[in-house]
Amino acid sequence: MKNWREVESKIKNSKHTVILSHRSPDGDSVGSSLALYHYLKNYIGHVQVITPDPAPKFLSWLSGFDTILNYQENEDIVNQELKKADLICCLDFNTPSRMGDLEKAFHLNQDAYIINIDHHQDPDDFSNFQLSETSASSTCQLIYDFIYGLKGTEKLSIELGEAMYTGIVTDTGSFRFSSTSKHTHNVVAELIEVGINPGKIHENIYNNYSIDRLKLLGFVLVQRFKVYEKYNAAIIYLPEEDLNQFNFQKGDTEGIVNYPLTVANIRMSILITEKDGKVKMSFRSKGDFRVNELSSKYFSGGGHFNAAGGISDVGVMETVKKLEEIFPEYEKELNA
Ligand code: 5GP
Ligand code: MN
Repeated sequence: MKNWREVESKIKNSKHTVILSHRSPDGDSVGSSLALYHYLKNYIGHVQVITPDPAPKFLSWLSGFDTILNYQENEDIVNQELKKADLICCLDFNTPSRMGDLEKAFHLNQDAYIINIDHHQDPDDFSNFQLSETSASSTCQLIYDFIYGLKGTEKLSIELGEAMYTGIVTDTGSFRFSSTSKHTHNVVAELIEVGINPGKIHENIYNNYSIDRLKLLGFVLVQRFKVYEKYNAAIIYLPEEDLNQFNFQKGDTEGIVNYPLTVANIRMSILITEKDGKVKMSFRSKGDFRVNELSSKYFSGGGHFNAAGGISDVGVMETVKKLEEIFPEYEKELNA
């Protein structure tokens, strides 16, 4: 049972709230954090959004973006923020380890009331109030439900709505993934009623890239794209040297993993990128192939049915080899 009365009173009585989300911030984690930030600012004197590492620049037009603190560059201030908090909101993740190093700072505080709002599978029980719905399109959509549950929808504003729409549009692949529901569109209808301009937000998110980012995309599709017709699968691999050559900025590889799925018959696409010596993986699939299972079995990862992530403990080319050895296990499913 969710105790709406209790959570409402914790918000009303909070003096110092922090909002946390997962590492490698994306449209939904930053969008949900800023949407909740704008909402809570109506009630709470001090609200601080914290990310484990810097939020990507492609979201810098969002109102409140400049107030975000990242742990990587502000460890001491973030530790202080967490120690002082009486309310901690954990957004867009199902277990504290998804915050990376920020998890340590989170555990500094054992007294705060913890709210968890998230849409990932298998949520851990680490909060006092949990709104977890794995069928929801995005955490941003759940922020709407949270505000609705608090009977606070009259506080929706354009700046809040823009942040909320950003997470919905990025996590649904612009309303095309199967997680997009009637309710998703109803929430967006409410936001349009409030006054957001979806066209303007799309421009800000999708038509705002650097020349280097577009050239990186072209290079990748010609030089770093491997197709495995036998398995209806594709891999894109990007060693750090490639990223450096194109002046990589955070967010530049966002969306690249989706391109292979535009080819008929390709059911699974995997992106391998190397940053600061760490090898990160992104998995996407079409139809009923579960990439979260593959990623959790072999790459300490997880996520959703058709979109998952993970990490590899070997180099980029070894990771390609490892995947080539894994593919036969899934040949039947990938051809089903
Ligand atoms: P992305 O490929 O965009 O980084 O991640 C896609 C989805 O996979 C995210 O929404 C998140 O749910 C999940 N995910 C990404 N990285 C990880 C990871 O390292 N561990 C787990 N458990 N899930 C991840
Ligand atoms: Mn999300």
